[in-house]
Amino acid sequence: MSRPLLFLDVDGPLNPYAAKPERRPDGYTTLRVPVEREDGDLSSRRRPLRVWLDPEHGRILLRLGFDLCWATTWMGDANRWIAPVLGLPALPFVDFGDVLLRERPDGVHWKTGPVVEYAGGRPFAWVDDELSELDRAYVSAHHRAPGLLHHVDPRVGLRVDDFRALAGFGRSPGAPPATGLRA
Ligand SMILES: [Mg+2]
Repeated sequence: MSRPLLFLDVDGPLNPYAAKPERRPDGYTTLRVPVEREDGDLSSRRRPLRVWLDPEHGRILLRLGFDLCWATTWMGDANRWIAPVLGLPALPFVDFGDVLLRERPDGVHWKTGPVVEYAGGRPFAWVDDELSELDRAYVSAHHRAPGLLHHVDPRVGLRVDDFRALAGFGRSPGAPPATGLRA
């Protein structure tokens, strides 16, 4: 039997961008990513994007029992910038194409439709800092296999409890969630 998918958002779960800016969280390292201008040039005049990553997270993610997949605005750039810091191999990614960052009038996250489509009926878990009940309802209505939408606070990023919840789902995707899950 194939393993469930784990869709990974970068900013929020892996990069706790909303943590206090003056204090990098323990265990994290700082990555500075040059910002591409409209004309495609890498400019030194624009401030690079600061990304905090915990290099331990890659090893943990690889052991959770999932096939990992990026579900992030970084799309393929996550393999260039994020994966090497975490010690992850290049991963497949959801290509959001035209709907990238395009808000939907019904309030469902713009990622949700493409994520469900990508899953193609396979059980999946998804970690993101922007999930709502509307996304859960969408997944219930459009995805016929188990799906765990696991919200992560962008002030703290992924923590032990999150990994525990994911590992539980990875072992038996159809089982009811353990108590103590964060919504
Ligand atoms: Mg995010």
